[in-house]
This record gives sequence, C-alpha cells and structure tokens, in this order.
Amino acid sequence: MLFTSLLRVFLTRSLKPFIFDHSNRNELDFESLNDLGLYVHIPFCRSLCSFCPYCKEKYNKQRADSYKIALLKEIDLACGKQTKVKMVTSLYFGGGTPALMIDDLKDIIDKLKSYFSIAGGIGVELHPKDIEEETLQKLKAAGVTMVSVGIQSFNEKCLQKLGRNNDSFIEKLDLLSQSGFDVVDVDFIFGIPEQTDEILADDIKTAFDHGATQVSTYPFIDFTFADNAYKPMSEKVKKKMLKSLTTYCSKIGIERTAVWTFAKPCTQKYSSITRDNFLGFGVSATTLLKDSFKINTFSIDGYIRRVNENLLPTSLTLEFTRRQRAVYFLFWSAYALSINPEKFEKLIGIPLNKMFALELFIAEKAGILQKKEDIYEITNKAAYLYHSIEQIYTTAYIDKMWNVSRNEAFPDKIILK
Ligand code: SF4
Repeated sequence: MLFTSLLRVFLTRSLKPFIFDHSNRNELDFESLNDLGLYVHIPFCRSLCSFCPYCKEKYNKQRADSYKIALLKEIDLACGKQTKVKMVTSLYFGGGTPALMIDDLKDIIDKLKSYFSIAGGIGVELHPKDIEEETLQKLKAAGVTMVSVGIQSFNEKCLQKLGRNNDSFIEKLDLLSQSGFDVVDVDFIFGIPEQTDEILADDIKTAFDHGATQVSTYPFIDFTFADNAYKPMSEKVKKKMLKSLTTYCSKIGIERTAVWTFAKPCTQKYSSITRDNFLGFGVSATTLLKDSFKINTFSIDGYIRRVNENLLPTSLTLEFTRRQRAVYFLFWSAYALSINPEKFEKLIGIPLNKMFALELFIAEKAGILQKKEDIYEITNKAAYLYHSIEQIYTTAYIDKMWNVSRNEAFPDKIILK
C-alpha cells in the first residue's frame, strides 16, 4: 500500500488519490477521440471457476434474453446522439462466456455497426467447451475474425488445482486453427502450485504447434473474493517463471508483444485493453475517455433497471486530472512495451518530454527505457518490473474496486490511495 501511494504521488505530482464517485454524466463524449476501441461484456458462464475474478453468474436463458435487450438499449443510450458513423479500431467480446449468447452476438454487432465502422476486426473470448463446428461457423457469419481461448494449462495437475478439466483441448485447438480466424490467442496461467518452467514451456509449444498465433500468460492472482482451494506460488517464483517463459519464446522465434503476451512474428494482436480510449458496454464494463474513466454496475438487476430508466448504467466515475490521465496512458503503453510521444501529446496536450522530463531521464539511465527513432521502448528488465508493479496495483486497486462493486450495485464512492 505504501509503495502504490508513493509511486502515485511521485508520478502524478499530487497527494490527491484516485477518487471514484457515483456521479453519472449520462452522456459519453467520444466523437472527437482517435484510437477508440469497443468492448462488450457477457456475464454468463456454464459453471463458475474458483480462481476467476470477473463479473459473471451461471447462465440462464431468460436472464440472458433480458440482458440482451438492456445491452442493445445501453448502446442506443450511449451512441444515439452521434452525428455520423464513427471509425473504431476494434470490437471485443469478453466475459463470462460470450458464446453462451451466440445467437445474439450478430444482433449486438449489427447494433454497434449502426454507429461504428470497425477497422481492426472483431474478437471473442471462448471457453474450450464453445469450440464446436456450428458455434465457430456462427462466429464467422457474425463477422468475428479473432478468438481467444482460455485453456489455462494443458497439464492435468495444474488444471486440477484450478478446478478445471482437460476437455480434449488439443482437438479443439486444431478445429479452431482450421476455421480460418486471423488471430487465435490462447490464455495460460502461471504460478499454479507445482507448475514448473518445463510444464509452462510445454504448454506454450503445444499451443503454437496446434495453431495459436499468440499466447497470453497471466500470473495466478489470489483475489480476496475468489474461492481458490490452492494459493499461487510466491512472487519470486512467478517472476522467475516469467523470465523462463520469455527466454523460451525468444528461443523458438516468438516475439514478446506485451508484458504478458507473446506472438508469432507479423501476426495481428489480440488485445482488448491497450487502446488509448474505449467504450465498454454491459455489466462491469469500463469506459476510458479523454478526461474520465467510468465503470458500469456489476449487478445485472441494477443494470437492467438503470437502462430501463433511460440512464447509462454507470456506477462509478473518476474525473482525471491531466497528470492522472497522462499516468494512465503511460501505464498501459508500458504494458504494450512502447511509449509513443506523438500519441501522448495528441491526447494530453503537452509534450511527453516536458511533462515527464525527470522520469524519462531516470528511466533511460536505469535501463528501463530506450529510445528507438521516435518511440520509447520498454526493455526486458522493465517488463519484469512492470509485472511486479502490475500485481501490486491489482491487489491494491482492482481487488478493492471489484470487491466493493460486487457487493453494492451503485456505491457512493471509492478512494484509491
Ligand atoms: S474463468 Fe471463464 S468460464 Fe470460468 S468463471 Fe471465469 S469467465 Fe467463466
């Protein structure tokens, strides 16, 4: 906690904590923004995994039907005032298990397409159980070009620790790779008890051998509200595993594309979070604009009720100071391993080397950043530092935020120090 506070004060040059309150502007000012992405949250799963922190509940058709109606209405409420169709970078569906609403995805995509032109493809998160010929055909017919499948591990022992089974994963991946999607991302978790560097390397090799174009490897984090029977391995071991898997990927010709993602060269990336601005629809979805960050309610009932009152289902809003917004931009740029000063200046209105002269100087001297042409690249050394900081922030900020949001549909205020 002390660490997060000190770093926040140093970077934002202010003692002001991040204050999220219940204010709801009820309109989103996004028409003039560049590099805008879209995200839709589908909060239903067949069964609930113990380690999973995301906003979801067990699937029920009637409830999913009501949710879809509210979702389409939220899109109209947020975008109805737009004067022309706006270009966006991408559209991602996450969850939950979006394929449980497979017959609704096309309607949701069509609704969004009435307001947006999607330049960079449509991505959907899949559970291995979703991977069946018919579902994949429906996804393609709806215009989906990228998929991400949550395998977590091919190793039986690791899966058992996460409360999951190996459900013919290899056959499923083969089917996926034959289906002609532009991007096949496979999600893994590292830091599972008894998992070794060799098991992880074998998982990665298997994924690429069976058609993955990218793997995303997330550290096992024990959220306070998760129900993990087994706890993650220590931070030290996790960091060592990340180093080992990075070395392994480099050895087999796979490029690191973000702190926790690795991809085949010259392939498109699956990345729903590294946008300068994004609009999120559905429960728990977040929206990042030029001067604010907002979170939708985590309660499906609260969401449907709000939308039926013709109000956006925002539960919390953070109005950024300029420096807070700049730090947010840098945080996610660093995750994607490069900082573009031109983009920074366009968004923040001040040159990067003016606002962060001291930090850039220290970071370059410490071997954290290196300038290549006009871009600052994050070095491998810094990627491990980022990995550690991200986990500290996840525990200090996201865990707290999600914990409150899970218990209260519309909290009054959350202060992150
Ligand atoms: S890990 Fe996936 S399938 Fe499991 S509860 Fe979370 S969203 Fe649902």
